[in-house]
Amino acid sequence: MLYKNYIDGQWSASETSKIFKSLNPADTSDELGEFPASNTQDVNKAVEAADRAFKIWSKVPAPKRGELLFTVAEKIRDRKEEFSQLMTREMGKVLKEARGDVQEGIDMTYYMAAEGRRLFGYTTPAELPLKAAMAIRRPIGKIAAVTPWNFPFAIPTWKIMPALVAGNTVVWKPASDTPRVAYELTKIFDECGLPKGVLNLVFGGGSDVGVPLCKHPKINMISFTGSSDTGKEIYKYGAEKLNKVHLELGGKNPIVVLEDGDLDLAVDGVVWSAFGTTGQRCTACSRLVIEDGVHDALLEKLVERTEKLRLGNGLDPQTDVGPLVNRAAQEKVGRYVEMGVKEGAKLLCGGEMDRTGDSKKGFFYKPTIFAEVTPTMHIFQDEIFGPVLSVVKAKDYYDAIALANNTVYGLSSAIYTRDINKAQRAIEDLETGITYINSGTIGAEVHLPFGGVKNTGNGGREAGLAAIDEYTEWKTVYIDYSGKLQKAQGID
Ligand code: NAP
Ligand code: MG
Repeated sequence: MLYKNYIDGQWSASETSKIFKSLNPADTSDELGEFPASNTQDVNKAVEAADRAFKIWSKVPAPKRGELLFTVAEKIRDRKEEFSQLMTREMGKVLKEARGDVQEGIDMTYYMAAEGRRLFGYTTPAELPLKAAMAIRRPIGKIAAVTPWNFPFAIPTWKIMPALVAGNTVVWKPASDTPRVAYELTKIFDECGLPKGVLNLVFGGGSDVGVPLCKHPKINMISFTGSSDTGKEIYKYGAEKLNKVHLELGGKNPIVVLEDGDLDLAVDGVVWSAFGTTGQRCTACSRLVIEDGVHDALLEKLVERTEKLRLGNGLDPQTDVGPLVNRAAQEKVGRYVEMGVKEGAKLLCGGEMDRTGDSKKGFFYKPTIFAEVTPTMHIFQDEIFGPVLSVVKAKDYYDAIALANNTVYGLSSAIYTRDINKAQRAIEDLETGITYINSGTIGAEVHLPFGGVKNTGNGGREAGLAAIDEYTEWKTVYIDYSGKLQKAQGID
């Protein structure tokens, strides 16, 4: 089936006849549909629709906008299982994780629906008599949302829901690996009676759709989640127009295990964080820093557990680890593993594609652990975005923190220790936007801010109250009811 773009409340054919296919990365004979490889003209139509709709939607009372999101949340909840299975087919993550991804989207939608009755600003006394002062939130305008494939449901809701409840309109370009999930989410909005043009969906590639969308003069804000390289490019498009640009980028997230940590608990956390979603989470743990005294014991347990992980189609309940999203990702992992071996790291397990049995049909790579890694190696520094864990040994707490911070990225980190003083110190010392104590690096909750420091972003945060700050602008209002000209700062 050939799916269509969603522009101005209509499912509309692209201006081009070019198409691309969405395939199941666990079994490429399973096709999820054909989608238009849209172009600038399609983008222009979508932005014009968003521009017209903004004039109406921004005037709809926020509680009413929230009510619409509430209906959307209910509909998604009713179809959670269907969406989860579809997601597993489209991008490969195992079903229980796909359910988590959809649940996160449901949580975010309910949360932002309720924001319709808050969107709090504040009042404060004015310095002059008979004068009122307040700060209120205003929508920003037309938002370009560009999203990745690894959380094809949750991440779009992190952008679309706060943007809409705050009165903005959106043009969404989803990742080319997960167009079908994007279609299904958009269809829910259509079924719930979202006014035309408030949300528009344009399928197509980064350069054909992403670039003209971000560059469009009528776009007022760009919200992007993806790689740091793309983020840097997009930031420039925003700069040209002095647009607000929200960037959620790469990670190289460390877990630190100190000698007084609970090793079994740490093994659980590391396996889940490093190999969950086949290592393709922005918060995935890709570096493990172990204090000397427990290094060998922890590694032994870790390798034993990792070797037991079952690769396979994520729809099979026996599967622990699904495929990589596409062939390019599988090959990238292979190149980094070769590099790691060449640079002198010690390969403890994995280290090859899985081409046995049904795995031949897709893009599988065995969960891989390298020991004796040093900070100058590529496998320590670069985001591989696959099931590859690099392990380093630390002399003490200070060395461990220095190793953990030896990266350009700063999204998530974790530390295992039973020493409250060290845990508390680590919260300050670890240079990341998120830190977990005695848990792995993954597992965000929607009512807290999400994002990173250093090259993971440019200072913004998604989710929680922070999302409302992202998608609104402050307007300051003074009301002088004295009936005379009063001057601030004591000017006579
Ligand atoms: P990506 O290549 O940067 O793509 C992300 C999105 O940007 C896709 O929709 C892509 O379209 C589009 N795009 C590509 N080039 C573009 C351009 N020049 N202008 C405008 N849009 C463009 O990232 P990815 O490899 O799909 O995703 C994995 C990356 O995302 C990792 O680095 C990961 O760490 C990061 N990530 C970060 C977070 C976070 O919250 N910090 C969360 C999830 C993922 P196509 O799909 O059509 O190429
Ligand atoms: Mg696919």
